[in-house]
Amino acid sequence: MILMHDIIREGHPTLREVAKEMTFPLTAEEKKLGEDLLQFLINSQDPEIANKHGLRSGIGIAAPQVNVSKRMFALYLPDSKGNQISLVVINPKIVSHSVEGSYVATGEGCLSVDRDVPGYVPRHARITVKFFTPNGEEKKMRLKGLPAIAFQHELDHLNGIMFYDHINKDNPFAEIPNASPLEE
Ligand code: ZN
Repeated sequence: MILMHDIIREGHPTLREVAKEMTFPLTAEEKKLGEDLLQFLINSQDPEIANKHGLRSGIGIAAPQVNVSKRMFALYLPDSKGNQISLVVINPKIVSHSVEGSYVATGEGCLSVDRDVPGYVPRHARITVKFFTPNGEEKKMRLKGLPAIAFQHELDHLNGIMFYDHINKDNPFAEIPNASPLEE
């Protein structure tokens, strides 16, 4: 199982690489990695397991965060209707997005960042995405709210981008035009 010491932290060069496209069929090792990433998130949200292993709670984790520079990430969080989103995402693309923006009112966090970085991280409010499942099935999905923000945060990891790269350096809490806050 993935533990906190398996997760690389800011400053590690892999977090700044553009991760490689994956090819199908995935190897057994790549499939296992997808399962492990998702299982880490599930474990991290289970108070007993998280406490036992000292896991920080997460809703998304990308392969580069465990030092594997491939275009894969996992998401595990409820959507606004309370449906559980539980996904291993491969070779994701945003095919379209809303003009309207969004941001988490309390800022974003990251399993690879051991400090609070205050400020608004501008995101698209709604996105339509395409990606492949570990079995090579292509999926198209519309996301909004926190799942849309989490997807964009994880997709950034595949492109070597950290959430704080998006924060306004002169005024971290400057109003973001055309965007509404997401209350968490
Ligand atoms: Zn992150």
